[in-house]
Amino acid sequence: MSIKITKECINCGACEPECPNNAIYEGGKNWRMSDGTSLKKKMKYTFLQNPIKNDIYFIVSEKCTECVGFYEEPQCISICPVNCCIFDSNNTETKEELINKKLFLHNK
Ligand code: SF4
Ligand code: SF4
Repeated sequence: MSIKITKECINCGACEPECPNNAIYEGGKNWRMSDGTSLKKKMKYTFLQNPIKNDIYFIVSEKCTECVGFYEEPQCISICPVNCCIFDSNNTETKEELINKKLFLHNK
């Protein structure tokens, strides 16, 4: 399951550097699958994608692994001062799927 950021976000930016998958972006920012991952070597993942939200921070669900493979707890949930990082029931994944996603993002 991916994490999502709700409209209560105060744009403090604390979560962004904590994400091991570079899955969190400031509102209005373009993003790439290859940002912060080993997909940099594969051209098709380097294309700039449109922002998912413009006014608040957002999480790219394709890149979020719930921190599986890095930490015991989702780091964005732990650090957010207003508790606006929550589990997204529209993006559910099994532990195995999350591990495979992590391997896909960071396969050397
Ligand atoms: Fe990034 Fe982990 Fe938060 Fe997902 S749960 S957005 S991987 S910090
Ligand atoms: Fe928004 Fe919470 Fe991230 Fe701060 S830590 S930018 S309030 S989601």
